[in-house]
Amino acid sequence: MSAKIIDGKKVAGITRDEVRQDVEDWLDAGNRPPFLQVLLVGNDPASNVYVGAKTRACKEVGIETDTHRLPDTVSAKELKKTIHRFNDDDSIDGILVQLPLPSHLSSHDVIEAIDHKKDVDGFHPMNVGRLTVGQPSFRSCTPAGIFELFKYYSIPTKGKHAVVVGASNIVGRPISIMLSKEDSEGKATTTICHKYTKDLTAHTISADILIVAAGQPNLVKGEMVKEGVVVVDVGINRVADETKEKGYTLVGDCHFESVQEKASWITPVPGGVGPMTVAMLMKNTLLAAKRSIYPE
Ligand code: NAD
Repeated sequence: MSAKIIDGKKVAGITRDEVRQDVEDWLDAGNRPPFLQVLLVGNDPASNVYVGAKTRACKEVGIETDTHRLPDTVSAKELKKTIHRFNDDDSIDGILVQLPLPSHLSSHDVIEAIDHKKDVDGFHPMNVGRLTVGQPSFRSCTPAGIFELFKYYSIPTKGKHAVVVGASNIVGRPISIMLSKEDSEGKATTTICHKYTKDLTAHTISADILIVAAGQPNLVKGEMVKEGVVVVDVGINRVADETKEKGYTLVGDCHFESVQEKASWITPVPGGVGPMTVAMLMKNTLLAAKRSIYPE
């Protein structure tokens, strides 16, 4: 078997087109444009790239945005003061604090300072908790994007064995919650693996659906998966490559060549999950502007 490609770039383009149309309708109804406030602490090169991609996507769909930069020496008190100012500003619909933060700042503490009604990343405990118990919530963008891909390609999850490698608050945990829910989208039997999992292959080999979000290049190889598996590779890793102008190549967490020989579907890196994450952020920001999740 040679896997069919799950084209995240294409589906993200379709999603952004839908959001652009919805924003147009929203403006035609007499509303102001949605507004996303980004907060960027320090000067991490990868964070700059991600914020750049988010800002461009906002412009493309008609969402207004501003990036507020703070030095990497900013205190937690000062950072939270800025967040509280954005919380109180009615012209701001969504707030995004770009992660990771410098090590002296607790991301839990900072995320909790955001008004959960403006938490378009879906990381606030209120949104995670509401997702868990099936209440309307902002769903974190990468897991929500993965479900959009399943929907677009009519890939069923109901009754399947889904294995998630990685248990972070941003990707692994929320996608496993969504997959495991019996009363909404997932309906899968779900296994979560992490760095303390003994014999990873014993789990990955039985997956019908395998989500890999570990940040470890080539962690999953062809011999670790079964024929026909659906593979979603969330990993984005920079691997040194002198032949490239930038000096690195982007690779996922799976050894693409060997895994795609056995899989039925696979996401490439780049061009798989990454573009979907940004597209779902646009969707969440529009939901925030419309007060769809948390009506006033
Ligand atoms: P993280 O570092 O917060 O968490 C990594 C998880 O993987 C942990 O739970 C850890 O226990 C587990 N892990 C690490 N090594 C493992 C191993 N050998 N076996 C099993 N589990 C192992 O990472 P994160 O923020 O969840 O990101 C994971 C990857 O996904 C990174 O490469 C990141 O760049 C990428 N990412 C991509 C997107 C996107 O939009 N495509 C979004 C977020 C993160």
